[in-house]
Amino acid sequence: MLHLKVEKENAEKIRFKLMENRWLHPDFEIFSDGRYVYFPLKEGYESGENIVDIKGMFRKKKKNPYDKILEILHMDDNLKNKVPHHWEKYGDVVLIQLPEILYSYRKDIGRAFAEVLKAKSVLLYKGVEGEFRKPLVEFIFGNDAVTTHTENGIFYRFDASRIMFSSGNVDERIRMSRIDAVGERVVDMFAGIGYFSIPISKYCFPERVIAIEKNEEAYKYLVENIKLNGVSVDPILSDNRDVNIRDYADRVIMGYIHSEEFIPFAVRMLKQRGIIHYHDTWRKEQVKDRYETINSLFGDFNYSVLRFHIVKNYAPNILHVSIDLLIRKV
Ligand code: SAM
Repeated sequence: MLHLKVEKENAEKIRFKLMENRWLHPDFEIFSDGRYVYFPLKEGYESGENIVDIKGMFRKKKKNPYDKILEILHMDDNLKNKVPHHWEKYGDVVLIQLPEILYSYRKDIGRAFAEVLKAKSVLLYKGVEGEFRKPLVEFIFGNDAVTTHTENGIFYRFDASRIMFSSGNVDERIRMSRIDAVGERVVDMFAGIGYFSIPISKYCFPERVIAIEKNEEAYKYLVENIKLNGVSVDPILSDNRDVNIRDYADRVIMGYIHSEEFIPFAVRMLKQRGIIHYHDTWRKEQVKDRYETINSLFGDFNYSVLRFHIVKNYAPNILHVSIDLLIRKV
């Protein structure tokens, strides 16, 4: 295989030239022996002074998974271009979204994603619905979506076809695992499968974590995940409004984006002085007038804002926000 041998100092300049003239072989890796850099050349490059024929040492470039997926799929290039570059992978389950034009190819696409990403199931994701935030999905490969996803050193076991796991909230989950909650009593009002309560228990040295979840299925995985991670969290299967916790918590987590009506219940759970982590979805105008918006929500209480943060784009013109507030009841 012919390579152009170039002194390391000149490599960047030469690489640029080779790319400009399309002489660089796309399937092989550029490599270096420390002093020289070797550029793999396409066939037809004229032999010359610094051209060396290297046998055995050169390496084939690893194809990225997306290219491999496209390679497997038998469809026109204009359709291939519409195959999404993004997907979510939780343990061994993959979720993808497809434009309608690809629906009739969904099973082939599912098979290709499963093969390349080594997934046991591939789900076509169409959104989430209802108060339990249940995903709307269709199996396009496999039939079992119970999986164990690892994030930030935590194992989350859940059924990805029935319970949502928001990859867009990863920073928020990691942030919550680093809060200073030493010796605190923490109540997670919308615990799900333990998104926040498990990392807090594992990393933040609280006195106690109570995790409330209303959906029986999510609760089942919450209990399983507490065991799986060997943490101390007290799970409660209930609507959080029916749980009799008063003047108890140093910190209440409201990790649910429709939680406005739950604010009085969160405040009731707090000690005389405590922190609320509030999540919501706001229009961009509300974000612009954030202090007015916050006041319309918390104005009945003595509050101060500790932190305001945009978690992610939620929908066109809608943002997922999180706010940390200090509440004083007297
Ligand atoms: N914060 C999560 C993350 O990082 O991906 C996502 C939010 S989680 C899906 C919200 C949970 O709140 C759901 O499991 C839902 O069942 C639960 N929930 C909704 N209303 C509730 C209520 N009134 N009481 C207790 N749990 C509730």
